[in-house]
Amino acid sequence: MWPYDDTRAAVRDVLRLSGAMTFKAAAADLPMGGGKGVIVLPAGSLPPTGPLRTAALEDFGDTVQALEGAYVTAEDVGTAEEDMQTIAGRTRHVSGLDVRRGGSGDPSPWTALGVQEAIEVSLERATGSGDLAGRTVAIAGLGSVGVALAAGCAQAGAHLLAADIDPARRAAAEGLGARWVTPAQALEAEVDVYAPCALGGGLDHETAARAGARIIAGAANNQLADGSVAEVLADRGVLWAPDFVCNAGGIINISVELDGAYDPARARERLATIGHTLRRVFADADAAGTTPLAAARALAHERLRVS
Ligand code: NAD
Repeated sequence: MWPYDDTRAAVRDVLRLSGAMTFKAAAADLPMGGGKGVIVLPAGSLPPTGPLRTAALEDFGDTVQALEGAYVTAEDVGTAEEDMQTIAGRTRHVSGLDVRRGGSGDPSPWTALGVQEAIEVSLERATGSGDLAGRTVAIAGLGSVGVALAAGCAQAGAHLLAADIDPARRAAAEGLGARWVTPAQALEAEVDVYAPCALGGGLDHETAARAGARIIAGAANNQLADGSVAEVLADRGVLWAPDFVCNAGGIINISVELDGAYDPARARERLATIGHTLRRVFADADAAGTTPLAAARALAHERLRVS
């Protein structure tokens, strides 16, 4: 649920997001395709609350129901577990419901766990050690995933910088020991890891040239404005961990729910796929002399062909 300038912008975004979901499921070797829904808010508007929010979610639920299971929805930017509960009043093709009701809960903490694993694998690749203790991580976007990632990195002993366009997020970030900075400062800081956890498209030729971290690994979908940005980063010696590999933790958790009786221990086991896949992507990129993006796309295509 997000404000868009017009419906054309929303359609462009949802098509890019559903493409990313296809790559994500394929790279994680899950037996599912890709899909995404957006609830379009008028540009500049605040998220609706009360009966208006309920009506928007119920409309969305009716649309999902009309697809008869070809698309299963879940939490993402601007929506939370209780919203999925509202949607569930109109369709059974919704996941990420409350664990007490047999669902797998909000996928965001699982996405954060997967991103943390991706950060550790990237550190291992770039420095020889995946240990987060004493490293500095700059997180841009302190929403559901960003806060959980900050908590995990802090617990592992990392120093944190945190940025969000919403000043209300500052208290949570500082509560985890993070230093509050502007989004531009987070991007340019000479840190070990920059973790984009806001919206997509934040890295274009201009911003990629200003990135100060040696590693970029985060949750945001479609971080690169276009594929050529992967080359700009590689030329600058920045290791970019492909977003659709890093941020698969949530969908991996949902896949356990869709298998039948939800078991968080099974989800945790399956989450290890992210580290294995990312190690292979980095090795393939080195062997072929390509970028991690090209190697991750090749791997996803290979897995799509055999499935
Ligand atoms: P969220 O809506 O909870 O949080 C996003 C945060 O980013 C908000 O606090 C918002 O204020 C902030 N933000 C927006 N623009 C910003 C900017 N320019 N600079 C700094 N902060 C900005 O969303 P989320 O669920 O935490 O998801 C974050 C990203 O991860 C999204 O790109 C989402 O598609 C992706 N993702 C999420 C999941 C999941 O499980 N929630 C799974 C895979 C990928």
